[in-house]
Amino acid sequence: MATASRLIDTAALEAALVEFSRQRDWDPYHTPRNLLLALTGEVGELAEIFQWKTEAESAAIMHGSEAEHVRQEIADVLLYLMRLAMVLGVDVDAAVRDKIALNALKYPPKQR
Ligand SMILES: [Mg+2]
Repeated sequence: MATASRLIDTAALEAALVEFSRQRDWDPYHTPRNLLLALTGEVGELAEIFQWKTEAESAAIMHGSEAEHVRQEIADVLLYLMRLAMVLGVDVDAAVRDKIALNALKYPPKQR
């Protein structure tokens, strides 16, 4: 799907992740399996914040003392997801565009 602008411009994030890993010699550890397990762990850390909360408590989470923790875990999830996509050679912008198009076919908009 060719468009003039990207939905998600990942170039700066990818460059930052490459440099961070290079400076620590972490590339050998960034296998798809390891990154997927790390991503899953971070999703678990995010889920743990919401565990046992009521719907009202969950909806208000960003107004309480756990807001910064939520921000950090969301960042962790995104960082590992991006790194996994990079290692697998997935163009996240193209993948997201394609998936939105597939979802639009699968779930047509309501007729108004
Ligand atoms: Mg974390």
